Amino acid sequence: MADSVNTLPFFYGNITREDAEDYLRQAGMGNGLYLLRQSRNYLGGFALSVSYSGRCYHYTIEREPSEMYAIAGGKSHRNPVDVIDYHSQEMDGLVCLLKKPCNRPRNMQPKVGPFEDLKEKLIREYVKQTWNLQGAALEQAIISQRPQLEKLIATTAHEKMPWFHGIITREDSESRLQNGSRTNGKFLIRQRDTNGSYALCLLHEGQVMHYRIDRDRTGKLSIPDGKKFDTLWQLVEHYSYKPDGLLRVLTHPCQRPDGEISKNAHNKLMHGYRKPVIYIGRGSRHNTTDNLNPYETRLPNNQAAKAMPMDTEVYESPYADPDELRSSTVDRSHLFLEDGELGSGNFGTVMKGIYKMRKTEKSVAVKILKNDDNNPSVREEMLREANVMQQLDNPYIVRMIGICEAENLMLVMELAELGPLNKFLQKNKQTSIKNLTELVHQVSMGMKYLEEHNFVHRDLAARNVLLVTQHYAKISDFGLSKAVGEDQNYYKAKGHGKWPVKWYAPECINYFKFSSKSDVWSFGVLMWEAYSYGQKPYKGMKGNDVLQMIESGKRMDAPLNCPPEMYDLMRTCWEYKADIRPGFAVVEPRLREYYYDIAQ
Ligand code: ATP
Repeated sequence: MADSVNTLPFFYGNITREDAEDYLRQAGMGNGLYLLRQSRNYLGGFALSVSYSGRCYHYTIEREPSEMYAIAGGKSHRNPVDVIDYHSQEMDGLVCLLKKPCNRPRNMQPKVGPFEDLKEKLIREYVKQTWNLQGAALEQAIISQRPQLEKLIATTAHEKMPWFHGIITREDSESRLQNGSRTNGKFLIRQRDTNGSYALCLLHEGQVMHYRIDRDRTGKLSIPDGKKFDTLWQLVEHYSYKPDGLLRVLTHPCQRPDGEISKNAHNKLMHGYRKPVIYIGRGSRHNTTDNLNPYETRLPNNQAAKAMPMDTEVYESPYADPDELRSSTVDRSHLFLEDGELGSGNFGTVMKGIYKMRKTEKSVAVKILKNDDNNPSVREEMLREANVMQQLDNPYIVRMIGICEAENLMLVMELAELGPLNKFLQKNKQTSIKNLTELVHQVSMGMKYLEEHNFVHRDLAARNVLLVTQHYAKISDFGLSKAVGEDQNYYKAKGHGKWPVKWYAPECINYFKFSSKSDVWSFGVLMWEAYSYGQKPYKGMKGNDVLQMIESGKRMDAPLNCPPEMYDLMRTCWEYKADIRPGFAVVEPRLREYYYDIAQ
């Protein structure tokens, strides 16, 4: 959201309430004159300032756990602009109708808050340290999880601030403040306990005042009877420009002795980083399976749920660890099959198993070829699939761990236990649009990788996207995939096969021509499947009828409640001519942008 709001002429960014009043005054203080600014106390929230009868009124537009926006107690809307549109028709508790936007002076950009500058650096450092990632794995983690990481960073950023001294005693805080210059307004924050209670220690006329900062039931921080904030740095920022009940404003951060916090951070890493519980928006702590906070879902044994792809075993290749020998074959004595099938197909079955590696044991999926001497081509197909998979290494693609030749031919792969996306969504209809978009975006990241590496998938469909967790999708089933040349970037099939025609672009059916662009077409159908919660595309239609429908220029309707932005993108993927159709290099950033918009 933040990005698109930035382009609104009446959005001022991170300005104070007083600055807002100044701008309204300069613009004449007409009744119903309004501007929008970023909330300085609620993460992801906004503030609306309105003038009426010579006075200014300020309303917080909070982002609710449901990802909707509303003025406290008012009607909810999809975004802050809709809130404004609504209140230009209905007062509904406001002092007056919103009449005229108060636009920013020419050449003024929305003001960037102090945290924005720090954010990039902090995110990078956090991902590097927490998951020990670098290079492409680091970049992909940041791209796919940016909204979650931003929230995480926002609530832990205080640890990097010089005024945050961690757990120290009241006496220690006093001696630190009395040491060196004794400027009025010198301050620090110390942690009082591990339940999220802090103290703001402020030097005033040679004396140290201690203000408790407590967390309420919804997770908001405040000094007693004071304004509430989502984060400590927002609280510090607020009291740095306004005493608002304190004896004076905060002026000079008391510098934390060097290295203290980084030592603390190091300990967290060594002894397991206890990921913070983040609270966002109004209302009680929300702990549904999908919400704004990736870390809220706690497992019974108090371990944080594996909410980010990087928290799982399968984000990086098992061979990313240099101590593990990279080999395309798996020794049968290191492979243990478990009871119960994960799935089956023409080739045989897929079973769950454990693969004992040098250092670790991995849960794996094992595709077992049935013993069918009459059909050598199935064996060849499986070896071809293994050969393609072996060349791919991306967090959003199921990796092959190795081939095992034993009682049967077995393909050992990473395990994606929640199974195919279409089936998952049929059973989990409460999955939010944000969650769907997160998953579909991950698929587009995997497809962008395939496109860059000159592979065409040729069987991209929701049934071939497997879920590791509800927030982590991987592309699978490379049985039809082909490597293509860099120059002639398509594969020409020799004839018609047993094809998933409802997922195929017209040039595949008409000219047997397969490229990343035809994968894009399939991706559009996959998106349709996702936003319709696993329904079958072109329901009840025969392949030939589908082809005729496409040729006549018709396309599937938008799934019920599908965001218009996402249906637009599907339509773009179903552009008849392959050279006009965008590639994944275009599709992925479009999805990314929309995902960030609804998730941030
Ligand atoms: P298709 O019907 O698309 O041709 P297929 O016959 O080639 O499928 P796969 O899709 O490879 O077979 O596997 C069949 C089923 O086995 C999948 O739908 C899924 O339920 C399960 N499966 C396959 N690979 C994995 C995996 N890596 N992790 C977990 N389950 C898996």
